[in-house]
Amino acid sequence: MVRPNQRLHSHPSHADVQTSPTPAQRTGLLGGIATHVLQHDMAFGELALVCPTGHEPQHPLDWQSTQPVRLLRNVVRLTAPNPGFMTGPGTNSYLVGDAGTGFIAIDPGPADADHIQRLWRAALHPDGSGGNIRMIVCTHSHPDHSPGAAPLKAMCDGHPPILGLPSAPTARAASAFTPDRLLQNNEHLTLIPRGPDASLASSHTLQVIHTPGHAANHVCLLLVEDGLLFSGDHILNGSTTVIDPPDGHMGDYLQSLDTLLAACQAHDVQFILPAHGHVLGGSQAAACGAISHLKAHRLKREAKIAAVIKAHPQGTVDDWLPLAYDDVAPRVWPVAKRSLLAHLEHLGHLPDQHTKAPAP
Ligand SMILES: [Zn+2]
Repeated sequence: MVRPNQRLHSHPSHADVQTSPTPAQRTGLLGGIATHVLQHDMAFGELALVCPTGHEPQHPLDWQSTQPVRLLRNVVRLTAPNPGFMTGPGTNSYLVGDAGTGFIAIDPGPADADHIQRLWRAALHPDGSGGNIRMIVCTHSHPDHSPGAAPLKAMCDGHPPILGLPSAPTARAASAFTPDRLLQNNEHLTLIPRGPDASLASSHTLQVIHTPGHAANHVCLLLVEDGLLFSGDHILNGSTTVIDPPDGHMGDYLQSLDTLLAACQAHDVQFILPAHGHVLGGSQAAACGAISHLKAHRLKREAKIAAVIKAHPQGTVDDWLPLAYDDVAPRVWPVAKRSLLAHLEHLGHLPDQHTKAPAP
């Protein structure tokens, strides 16, 4: 698709270098030291987004939870200070927009007062004051994504609406969530320029894509003008999404990957911005390849599980777990068990006692 030319002016854009060969390595800053990053490294896509020419090795790759990281002139990431086993470097909150249009906040994260304050401060008005947020969107209602929405709303001018999908009855108690307004599949959330220079400025449009699978109330958001996908927890960089039944559902997860692949092809999406980890992609082939790879990975695991069941038809879930996940560390098995149950359900092998969500 053709993107408006004014997008290319003030900040480097991936669209600038579509005709240049992709460098095989890029340079970013780790601990303040220039560090080479190769194509298979996790941060490669992020460097392709922030310095498409490869000649501006000033981008910090260390995780920043005290200051926002600019990824494009209209996209900023602020990582919550909640790193951990399940959250990786922490939850990525994103601000989309600019001072002239106001911002959409994606995934305010946990209700961490300092993090919410920093998000508020990063959403600048033209006069330099904060709180210029028009809408708050939660990709889903897990506790590391949505609890910050209400305190952020309370702080901001005009109390922007919290948008998303309500939690399903299958969700755990900690994920109970009711948005101010329910998002429709494929609806557009648009930020319109205001003020004296409005006619020269660009709008920013997020297309909502329902993507059940990781959570029944999961949505992804496609930034139409820039060809970026905010993937929430459906696609991560550096870790594997847990599918935790019954709110998580493997069949839905795989189908949602197909939906995202089609959307990325239709909108020439070149970068995927996950809720945990660095930016993925660098070209449409790389972004779509990441999605195809995820699907292939799941189906490969499922084939392995089917083979384990065939070899041990009288076994229990706990017998199958170490065999089906013999390539991951035993400390990961309790979490892997949730995804194993999701695969068993998809294969039609789920024992009855596992169809209910365990106590939180
Ligand atoms: Zn989640």
